[in-house]
Amino acid sequence: MALSMLQSEIYLFLPWATVFNAGARMHEIAIGQNLVAAVLQEMRQRQVPPGALRVTRVVAGQMHQIVPEALATAYDLLSRDTPAAGSTLALRVLPLEARCPACGWRGALEPPVFLCGACGQGGIELLSGNELYLESLEVASADDLEQPAVAP
Ligand SMILES: [Zn+2]
Repeated sequence: MALSMLQSEIYLFLPWATVFNAGARMHEIAIGQNLVAAVLQEMRQRQVPPGALRVTRVVAGQMHQIVPEALATAYDLLSRDTPAAGSTLALRVLPLEARCPACGWRGALEPPVFLCGACGQGGIELLSGNELYLESLEVASADDLEQPAVAP
């Protein structure tokens, strides 16, 4: 479920001024759009009633350089007035880890340096840090909902 593969054209009519004034950055808004589109698609496919979504769990590699607060703000604004309204975003950031094919070193990278931590070679392999996906959706049980679910 790669977020980058999903379309987000349904959000072209957002009040951008509102989003920017709230402190969200362009980068997080762009990711937030794909994220909310993916969440709404999952909700439709799994027939999650509007308002039942509690937590959206996302995994993002450090490579994406997401500011968590900015993404949370973008998510809140972009999910407002959608079936996902009221849910919160839980972001898990995976560190950049690499392996050096030349000497076998394995360790963390500190961008913008992408060199082996032992021998200094540049031809390293990224093991983690480039991920971006929806991990899970936490949905309230039917008993928790105040009103019976109504299909949109
Ligand atoms: Zn090396």
